[in-house]
Amino acid sequence: MILIDGKKAAAELRADLKQEVAQLKSKHNKVPGLTVILIGDLTPSQIYVRNKEKSANEVGLKSEVIKYPDSVEEKTVLEKIQELNSDETVSGILVQLPLPKHIDKQKVIEAIDPSKDVDGFHPMNVGNLSSGYESSIPCTPLGCYLLIKKIEPNLSGKKAVVVGRSNLNGKPMTQLLLKENCTVTITHSKTKDLKAECLEADIIVAAVGIPELVRGDWVKKDAVVIDVGINKTDDGIVGDVHFDEVSKNAKALTPVPGGVGPMTIACLLKNTIDCFKRSQI
Ligand code: NAD
Repeated sequence: MILIDGKKAAAELRADLKQEVAQLKSKHNKVPGLTVILIGDLTPSQIYVRNKEKSANEVGLKSEVIKYPDSVEEKTVLEKIQELNSDETVSGILVQLPLPKHIDKQKVIEAIDPSKDVDGFHPMNVGNLSSGYESSIPCTPLGCYLLIKKIEPNLSGKKAVVVGRSNLNGKPMTQLLLKENCTVTITHSKTKDLKAECLEADIIVAAVGIPELVRGDWVKKDAVVIDVGINKTDDGIVGDVHFDEVSKNAKALTPVPGGVGPMTIACLLKNTIDCFKRSQI
């Protein structure tokens, strides 16, 4: 079984991006800039944002974090986004989710200029991705896609099953696999027989949030299995895939932690650089 090393893949991607930033700097005399807006003091969000900032600095991006207290008014956030939209030194804007209840998430997402939407959540980017046009692609599915391509460079005709239909993971993952000419089944909480669906798959991507949902006897020999899940349990962090069981059947599997997680941040940096490049054309 191939253990798909997301830490190594992310380090390689960051090294490539660092070189690219250096080249862009010498060509344009400026570097891509990422601005993250962090609202409130939720510990996981603070950790994510700190890691994003550290990685951005490592590859040579200009990085800035704007912090607001939980009580900030929606209007203040929307005005800040407008200011960042017209700031030429800002290539990418990310508003860390979740947001406090009094702030309308969709309003915030739609306020970001689609050309600076490094999360790929703006409806314009969602539409472009599903129409097969150039767009920002949500970071986690993009990371999954790059890991799958390392194992299976030619995905044409493969049967893929995506477990979970969130806007963040399942839906964009489905679009990426479709673009590669996979035959894709998207499954969710109302799917009748998830095991039977998974047993058909050459590629499984699990993004559910249920610890170890995908079992060893759900996976056919030689399937590539990508585990997006991050679930806190009494035994520590586990994925949506039963690692010990599935590793006995699968051709390749991502561990949790150390699989998809590190690729998510590396892909955020990639998206920032791609936004910068598109803005220079
Ligand atoms: P979500 O809660 O938004 O969506 C979960 C999806 O799973 C829903 O579409 C639901 O229909 C489906 N589902 C629920 N129960 C099911 C069942 N029994 N069978 C089949 N489908 C079922 O979740 P999300 O935001 O997509 O996150 C999924 C997981 O990925 C979580 O564990 C989250 O922490 C993790 N995550 C990891 C990363 C990363 O970087 N690795 C990033 C984002 C999210």
